[in-house]
Amino acid sequence: MTRRTFAFFDWRLRPDQDADAPPTTYAFRCLTLNDDDTECAAKSPASDDPTEPQTWAFAHMREFPEHTSYAEVTERPWAMWREGPT
Ligand SMILES: [Zn+2]
Repeated sequence: MTRRTFAFFDWRLRPDQDADAPPTTYAFRCLTLNDDDTECAAKSPASDDPTEPQTWAFAHMREFPEHTSYAEVTERPWAMWREGPT
């Protein structure tokens, strides 16, 4: 009988807080429904300043006064970390 040893690792998923991790970014998307029930879906540029997309939302509402429903879209970097024997 042949025996083989395998190394097993545990993987953990964590927010990536390394210095070289991509920044967390924020954007706003317009949720207002058009007359045909499709979503407007206009979206602000992503920014690492959470207040910039809010400024975009006010500008979007000035252009489309009936568009008053929004979602904040946050992109936060996560990374898999290996734990166990090396
Ligand atoms: Zn809109």
